[in-house]
Amino acid sequence: MSAVSAILLKASFDMAGLIVMGVLIISLVFRKMTKGTTNHLFLASIFAGMIACVFDVLIVVVDSNESSKFWIYFVHIVYLLFHNLQGPLHLFFVISLTDIWHKVRKSLPQKILLMLPYSLLFLLVATDPITNWIFTVDGGYEHAILFDAVYVCLIPYLTADFVYIFQHRKQLGFRRIVSLCSMATLVLIAVIIHVLVPVLRVETFAIAISLLSVSVGVQRPEDYIDSYTGLYKQAAYAFDLKRTFENGKHVNIVMLNIGNYPTIQNMIGYESSIELLQSISARLEMIAKSLKCSCMLYYLDRGRFRMVFNEGDRDKAEMAAEYVMNEFKMRSRFNGFDLNLTPYVVLARCPEEIESFKSLMAFGNDFHDKHPYTGQVMKASEVYNAKDFMIQNNIDTIIERALEKNSFQVYYQPIYSTERGKFVSAEALIRLFDEEHGFISPEILITAAEKSGAIHKIGKYVFEEVCKFISSEEYKRLDLDYIEVNLSVAQCMHSDLANDILATMKKYNVSPDSINLEITETAASYTQRVMTENLNKLSRAGLSFSLDDYGTGYSNMKRVISLPLKIVKLDKSFVDDQHNPKMWIVLQNTVKMLKDMQMEIVVEGIETREMVETFSSLKCDFIQGYFFSKPVCKEDFVKFIISAMETINQ
Ligand code: C2E
Ligand code: MG
Ligand code: MG
Repeated sequence: MSAVSAILLKASFDMAGLIVMGVLIISLVFRKMTKGTTNHLFLASIFAGMIACVFDVLIVVVDSNESSKFWIYFVHIVYLLFHNLQGPLHLFFVISLTDIWHKVRKSLPQKILLMLPYSLLFLLVATDPITNWIFTVDGGYEHAILFDAVYVCLIPYLTADFVYIFQHRKQLGFRRIVSLCSMATLVLIAVIIHVLVPVLRVETFAIAISLLSVSVGVQRPEDYIDSYTGLYKQAAYAFDLKRTFENGKHVNIVMLNIGNYPTIQNMIGYESSIELLQSISARLEMIAKSLKCSCMLYYLDRGRFRMVFNEGDRDKAEMAAEYVMNEFKMRSRFNGFDLNLTPYVVLARCPEEIESFKSLMAFGNDFHDKHPYTGQVMKASEVYNAKDFMIQNNIDTIIERALEKNSFQVYYQPIYSTERGKFVSAEALIRLFDEEHGFISPEILITAAEKSGAIHKIGKYVFEEVCKFISSEEYKRLDLDYIEVNLSVAQCMHSDLANDILATMKKYNVSPDSINLEITETAASYTQRVMTENLNKLSRAGLSFSLDDYGTGYSNMKRVISLPLKIVKLDKSFVDDQHNPKMWIVLQNTVKMLKDMQMEIVVEGIETREMVETFSSLKCDFIQGYFFSKPVCKEDFVKFIISAMETINQ
């Protein structure tokens, strides 16, 4: 065998490793996995591995020639230093992946553990030409008395790897744990093989394979990188921020929600909207770059972007929030369209201002819908209400507790007939005084309960209470036509709704004309089969329906017409605007249109005598509002109606 063939044979594993790592680097560059600390550390591991491979090949060359002592020392020292660099680099990678830098930095023993073993080995290896403690080269290369230090040095790193991986096993998930552990295990096996069969130079190849396994199992760009914008996507944001909260790390987040993104997307079409997102991402990257600090950029979805800054970069985060607002609130030309974005920007310090991951995600989802657009950066301390989100996050427990302890109550708000000059009905409204959170507004309660599915229990409770009331003797004295009960969208879509309602009415012997069910405009615009079946079944059974909150949503008129509606309730926000001349025209014509369609009209939110007169003169049939009474408990409601009846009779 020629000398060259012998060298190639001996170094074949090294060369295979080199090829694997080369391909890995190319794939990382193509997959845009080159940004951020975790990726930098992973790349550093690959480069260190490649250098170790190259020098392992050179060792074979140097050992098989009559090389000078200098070269033998040089290649062996460089090889050992880069080979052992895998220990700390892999540990740094695990630390970065679990996002516990801030904890490690604060702990002296952990800092020592990170630095000391490799520093000692570095000293030993670098001074070997003088000490000859690691290896000697007199009469050819040979291991010396302290050679085992090369492997002993790896033990603290491998141990720490396993400890950190075990401690953060929940965050990492099964796939990542397997990949990360496989790296340490593979290197361990290779070391054992190398010790037992020194001619098999498999260590660097094992490193290459283990890096490949980490790349497949941990560094999965398709999980984390948005292919259109090149930014990290929602899954990465969720993964990173969950770790942040769990590890007690502090961060500053700039949240950008483009409030009118859905409208713009409809206007400019799919392809242009992707270009728009790309241009926004590019501008955010420019802003991040100009601030010269490490900041993570994410694109979640539906025009929502996030910039996450470290704790110490609060001033940079403040500047970024201002830049972002100023950059996007300007009218701009885009692909021939004149665009007017409505950027909502919130600056949040976590966990000080937003205390949990769940609340952060819930708040970030729709803060742009809940606050008026001002064109100014909003501070989380001003716009985030911790109580609302605590309630949202614990709604199931709150509802269970309320049902158990009987702390729900049904209040009634009287409804006045302008034609008959008396109260003819009432709306049933849920009330909850929770022992921990105090009064919980129905809007928050209902929205959260709809999301969690608990709305059905609330709905059943309210309906049963109303039926009990209607079947009672005291109700009969009130001479009311019916009670209005609210149904939310989720309730309407429940296949058991109609049967449940009819069964409860039967149980309390309540006639169908004593109940009027209110559905909201949003529910009316759904064309769900279950909902239509429910409404038709109830309508056939003789129940009537009201369309609630008319004038607040985008009603699909065709759909509204096709529903079995008896009453339309004009929303408070609609009637509040009566002094606006244009709105007055809309109101007059709406009332006329509904009357022509033989619908009855309830005006909600009437607070003044002037409003009562205005809407009575418009020939609206019913009036409901604080002017007459706020929603009150059953006992007060009974008293109120009786005293009103007495006043009329006098
Ligand atoms: P809604 O059905 O439109 O009920 C009318 C709301 O307007 C009630 O708020 C009532 O207290 C309030 N209101 C009545 N008159 C006036 C007024 O003159 N001025 C002002 N400022 N407000 C007035 P509430 O009780 O807070 O309920 C809010 C919403 O929560 C309801 O709006 C309804 O959509 C929902 N909701 C309440 N109870 C239930 C329930 O039992 N089931 C379902 N599914 N939803 C409910
Ligand atoms: Mg209502
Ligand atoms: Mg309403």
